[in-house]
Amino acid sequence: MQVTTSVIVLSIFAGVFILTDIKDYKERKSKSTATLAHVIGVNSIPTILFQDNESANEILAELKNSSPDIIHAMITDTLGKIFASYSRKGADTVMPLQLFKVEASDFSGKNLLVANDIVNNDAVIGKVALEVEMSELEAIKKSRYEMAAILLFSAIIFSFLVAYVVQVYISKRLLYLVDTMKLVSKTGNYNTPIVDRGKDEISTLIHVYNNLMQQVRQSQHKKDEFIGIASHELKTPLTSIKGYLDLLNMVEEREPHKQFVQQGLASVNKLERLIKDLLDVSKIQSGQLQLNINEFNIDELINETIGSFQMMAGSHRIIKRNSMDGQMITADRQRIEQVLINLLSNAIKYSPNEEEVIVNCKRENGFLKLQVRDYGIGIPPEETTEIFERFYRTKDTSMHISGFGLGLYICKDIITRHGGKIWVENEPKGSSFYFILPLITQVKNI
Ligand code: ADP
Repeated sequence: MQVTTSVIVLSIFAGVFILTDIKDYKERKSKSTATLAHVIGVNSIPTILFQDNESANEILAELKNSSPDIIHAMITDTLGKIFASYSRKGADTVMPLQLFKVEASDFSGKNLLVANDIVNNDAVIGKVALEVEMSELEAIKKSRYEMAAILLFSAIIFSFLVAYVVQVYISKRLLYLVDTMKLVSKTGNYNTPIVDRGKDEISTLIHVYNNLMQQVRQSQHKKDEFIGIASHELKTPLTSIKGYLDLLNMVEEREPHKQFVQQGLASVNKLERLIKDLLDVSKIQSGQLQLNINEFNIDELINETIGSFQMMAGSHRIIKRNSMDGQMITADRQRIEQVLINLLSNAIKYSPNEEEVIVNCKRENGFLKLQVRDYGIGIPPEETTEIFERFYRTKDTSMHISGFGLGLYICKDIITRHGGKIWVENEPKGSSFYFILPLITQVKNI
């Protein structure tokens, strides 16, 4: 756009400049030729009065030296008959017809034609007519066109360069803005404002974006605060309800009363898990999730967890494929158990019509690598990263299977804090969740 505008403006300017220059030249030439015709006329008065053709021809012949660009010159009487004439060497000796017709000046042909009346005592006694070669005008035109072409070409190159530099400057900032937005939407980290010192529209856009991010941060902070306070306040009454229901469950023998109590207890347990998760999330958000690092036997932990799970979730068989031969690891036992429970309960929850869940563990490059594989519904490939985000649930499952999208987020934080990594891979049927843990944890604050 910039280049096109510059070229159009410059072309207009160059056109106007050339036309004005040519017009000026023609006016000057016409004036000077008219003056010359006038001078010849004045000098020729006596020759006309005395009918002295010879002297008149001599006057015209002088033109050969004084004005070599004159091709034809003639003096005519009042009847238009030639009194004296001159033809430049090499030119046709017959006077051109247009020279007889010209009144003042005429540029219509190839050459300039000028005529001037010869006046004596207010009476017209004849006319001087000159034909002037305009080859100089052609040379002027040529040089002006060349100059305009060079100017135009340089202007195009220059405006291209300027446009390129400006575009790089603008695009760089816009691309940086887009990249930051993509990163923010991917990581959910709204904390880094974009620094821009410009004073143009892009800076305004960046400023608006920064303000928006600040508002998002503020409302997120309020939401986290609310989750923290609400879950904390809910915990105490829930513990007491659970206590009373446990007591009732022990003393009540009658049916269906006992069944009602047990149903109540199951719901309270579910609620308790949710509140625990919410408390964990709020601890993670405020950086207060502490790890209690101890040495323990990983095989024992896996076996215990599978055992207690097996008792509760009778629908699936949980098969442990290999043993770690009493391998000790240094980590937060309770938190690793929490991760394991989460992965196992997901594996069961998301494979409702299947019967098996496989647990595999081994040592690999100084890490413990654990796999929980199910034969369930699997995870859409484009969502395998998002499922570890807070409150994220895949579009397929969120409608049919209950959940809050918190478990994997907490698992990821626990594993990352241990210096490990957690991920999911799709299998031909179902999916495999993996995590690796260093055998000796150096606590990592994230
Ligand atoms: P929740 O299960 O409470 O929704 P999670 O954070 O544990 O929350 O899981 C997040 C999402 O990941 C789930 O909503 C589900 O869509 C998907 N997901 C997790 N585990 C599995 C699995 N084993 N198979 C299929 N989808 C899973």
